[in-house]
Amino acid sequence: MSGRHVAFQEGAAQAFDADYVVAGSGAGGAAAAITLARAGFRVALVEAGPWRDPEDYPSSMYGTMRDMFADWGQLVAMGNPLGKDAIIPIVQAKLVGGTPIINSAIVVRTPGDVLADWRERFGLGDVFNEASIGAKQDQIERELSVTETAGAGMGPSGAAMLKALIDRGAEGHAIHRNVRAACEGAMQCLQGCKRRNKRTANFLWIPELQNERGGIVLSCAPVDRVLLENGQAVGVTGRWQHPQTRQKGATFTVRAKRGVLVAASATGSAPLLQRSGIRLPALGQGWRAHPGAGVVGVYPETMDMHKGASQAVASLQYRESIGIKMEHLSLPMELFAARVGGAGQTLMHKLEDYRHCAMWVNAVRADAVGTVKQNWLGGVSVTYQPTKKDLERLRTGSKMIAEMHFSQGAYKVLPGVFGMKSEIGPDEVHLFDTAPLDNRCYTWVLSHLFGGCNLGKDPQTSVVAPDLHVRGVRKLHVVDAAAIPTTLGVNPQHTIMAMAMVAAERLVGA
Ligand SMILES: Cc1cc2nc3c(=O)[nH]c(=O)nc-3n(C[C@H](O)[C@H](O)[C@H](O)COP(=O)(O)OP(=O)(O)OC[C@H]3O[C@@H](n4cnc5c(N)ncnc54)[C@H](O)[C@@H]3O)c2cc1C
Repeated sequence: MSGRHVAFQEGAAQAFDADYVVAGSGAGGAAAAITLARAGFRVALVEAGPWRDPEDYPSSMYGTMRDMFADWGQLVAMGNPLGKDAIIPIVQAKLVGGTPIINSAIVVRTPGDVLADWRERFGLGDVFNEASIGAKQDQIERELSVTETAGAGMGPSGAAMLKALIDRGAEGHAIHRNVRAACEGAMQCLQGCKRRNKRTANFLWIPELQNERGGIVLSCAPVDRVLLENGQAVGVTGRWQHPQTRQKGATFTVRAKRGVLVAASATGSAPLLQRSGIRLPALGQGWRAHPGAGVVGVYPETMDMHKGASQAVASLQYRESIGIKMEHLSLPMELFAARVGGAGQTLMHKLEDYRHCAMWVNAVRADAVGTVKQNWLGGVSVTYQPTKKDLERLRTGSKMIAEMHFSQGAYKVLPGVFGMKSEIGPDEVHLFDTAPLDNRCYTWVLSHLFGGCNLGKDPQTSVVAPDLHVRGVRKLHVVDAAAIPTTLGVNPQHTIMAMAMVAAERLVGA
């Protein structure tokens, strides 16, 4: 097989052969694919979304949702629609390179307590441990140019948060990101970095796979099913789909002699296995997340969220004690408008303050556990609601962020909590103590997702066994966030990539 890229096709069915086929080209899929290709195997990387040249990345968030998000970002998590449950947006990308193309480039090593927990509760210590994950994270940091945010990357809002943390006596740090030194902090991480400064697989591993390692990439090619023969995975099949018109194209089949790796994300991998006829008690169960929500401070001076990296500063101070990770997050105007809410004159007045606003967020290490499944309409359904304890974590963290804003001179704070005043002053922070513990009152967003095909030793609660096989099926593996059996309490891409590389090396016996 010579290296090549096959985008949307019409007409007759097409067939391809490879040693391994990887379904999904995001953090997990791309990392696994390049590892297999470097070990000398012919790899087919099959991606539901299109290839996008960085020059064509949209500048607006609207364009990003249209061109790069999975289905305009319309997937949501729901609880019981008849109960006090919220509809929470789930954000993911759908293009060659996956969600890292629209993420904030934050790179955090897998915490030791997470690996210890996996060893003790899930029997994963032989495969995923400090040595194996650490070695791969060293490699990833070298290859993706991971560096500490500095200079123009910091921006006024990030700098203010760092100072607020220091003033509070709390841990705070400039975020490590996978960006080149040339990053000038143009606050375009979430729209995809047109300047190619964010070092993602579409600039590095995927071109290497195609051009130097004889691999093939199929884009606009959602995998419909894994092909199973005599209890063994032998390939994948699907039908091309045009990224704009959504018109269906030709069908494709990729047969893979050595194995099938599923990496279609925490919302895609379990439904793909379900569509393929795999029935396991834990399939689609154990779905988790770090739900996040932000608190806005309004300052007399300009904070100019458009300056600096989208995210430049974070704190792990409260990861263990409360179960939150604090981060600075600058939002483009469209997302800011959605966050502050309102309409007409009310909204226009809020937007007048845009240049004076800074937003800092809490990502909650939530206890909540949900499900993901293929629904009868052909789509995906996610059930998930933060628990009362998770809401308390957010409420506590939000109060602390409000205090931090006021400590840096903000003259008002926009809590973003329905049932509280829409703006509070410095002597009203206590109002957070009685804010409603109701998911519908918070502007939760889900972007760190885990599970559905959980790794583990217990057949009742896991889909992937510690030997990395999907239970009961030979040569079938899951190498993305869907396999992660717990939350992490830190940003997940580094863990996902390292786990995928470790798994791929194990599979080829390297
Ligand atoms: C806005 C945002 C900001 C974030 N910021 C950070 C950050 O700064 N640091 C961090 O560590 N994490 C961050 N994350 C999370 C991180 O990007 C994800 O956890 C990670 O990318 C998940 O990796 P994955 O391989 O499981 O899935 P993805 O990276 O989502 O890749 C899955 C791929 O599979 C494709 N796919 C789906 N179904 C199919 C199918 N049937 N056939 C073929 N292909 C399919 C999808 O199109 C997608 O390209 C962020 C996420 C978001 C949304």
